[in-house]
Amino acid sequence: MARITIIGGGVIGLSIAFECRKRGHEITVVEAQRCGGQASGAAAGMLAPYSEIEEDPDDFFRLCQRSLQLFPEWQEEVKQHSEIDFEYNESGSLYCIYHEADRLSLETKQAWQQKFHVKSKLLTAEEVREKEPELSENVVAALWCPEEAHIYAPGYVAALLQACRSLGVRVVENAGEAKLENGDVVTKNERIESDEVVLAAGAWSMYWENELGCTLPIFPIRGQICAYEAPTLNHIIFTSQGYLVAKANGSVVAGASEDIADFDTNVTMHGIGRLEKWSKKVMPVLEKMEPFHKWAGLRPATQDGFPLIGRVVEKTGIILATGHYRNGILLSPITAKIVADEIDQIPQRIEIGQFNPNRFQSIQ
Ligand SMILES: Cc1cc2nc3c(=O)[nH]c(=O)nc-3n(C[C@H](O)[C@H](O)[C@H](O)COP(=O)(O)OP(=O)(O)OC[C@H]3O[C@@H](n4cnc5c(N)ncnc54)[C@H](O)[C@@H]3O)c2cc1C
Repeated sequence: MARITIIGGGVIGLSIAFECRKRGHEITVVEAQRCGGQASGAAAGMLAPYSEIEEDPDDFFRLCQRSLQLFPEWQEEVKQHSEIDFEYNESGSLYCIYHEADRLSLETKQAWQQKFHVKSKLLTAEEVREKEPELSENVVAALWCPEEAHIYAPGYVAALLQACRSLGVRVVENAGEAKLENGDVVTKNERIESDEVVLAAGAWSMYWENELGCTLPIFPIRGQICAYEAPTLNHIIFTSQGYLVAKANGSVVAGASEDIADFDTNVTMHGIGRLEKWSKKVMPVLEKMEPFHKWAGLRPATQDGFPLIGRVVEKTGIILATGHYRNGILLSPITAKIVADEIDQIPQRIEIGQFNPNRFQSIQ
């Protein structure tokens, strides 16, 4: 049994805590503020690798696909241990196009998806509107991916936190910014000795370069997002400009901007205005409505678009699990299992070389 301290109580840190605790390790999570209070609580909760990944598949696609496949059992376990019933909806998705010229890209995408046994079907405009009567008549066709799903992210994160606590994980919130001193994790109130330290600090992982002795090209990309009280949708709706996803609480969420704003989590008129304009075109019933809720979060982006998961060469007692950018909710179960396997010295079940945190050069 190892003593493991996890820095960061977002979806990634809590998922790792949950998995490692189930395997019998002694876990402490230290969170600067409130667990789930940053990107993880702001997310739309889509589990949608087939719609999100446009280009040819690579190891990142396989990582996302594997994580999607883990979700049914994983979310059930979180519900059991937390006794919290959050929304998980295997709704499927429709990737809609509005110009004939875009049909070829949908067909190409579907062709490579089939090689990976992804279920998908090209629908005509009539078929799309039969499935989703609230969508605009301008839709030309859509790619239907029935295996994609979504989750209510704030509920999922709250349940993960409760599941961790029920299993005996020590969670320290409002710990201030944890630091490392001679291998110990130090918070404003205590010093924690550990066998392993996992850094799951989301966009804030960028500040650990000097401490870890390796280049960490991680940076915050703000996502602005809003919600309407609107008639429901049966699927996640994607277009090239954004997405709409209906939640069981009666809201339709429209997302999301991608802007560089340092660590600012305010919404702007420009960011939300663009979303409003786009969403009203896609779903005309929204035209007379105002979003009742607007918010923003900071996605942990990386230079090459891939997460950093694995042990740091210069500091072998430290494992990084960060940089999940647009897919941290989706990737939470697989990341937890990769990190737990690393700690338990179990050979990895999928190819993870592309996510090696040492792939950027060391700091001299
Ligand atoms: C608008 C929006 C929509 C999104 N939609 C989706 C989606 O539909 N599907 C999907 O899969 N993903 C989505 N994402 C992305 C997803 O939210 C992120 O990839 C994911 O939440 C990252 O999780 P994390 O735990 O790494 O980071 P965070 O949730 O940011 O958590 C990191 C935590 O570490 C803490 N911390 C940092 N430094 C320290 C320190 N020194 N000491 C202690 N604690 C520290 C922070 O306080 C924070 O709570 C979305 C993101 C946004 C913003």
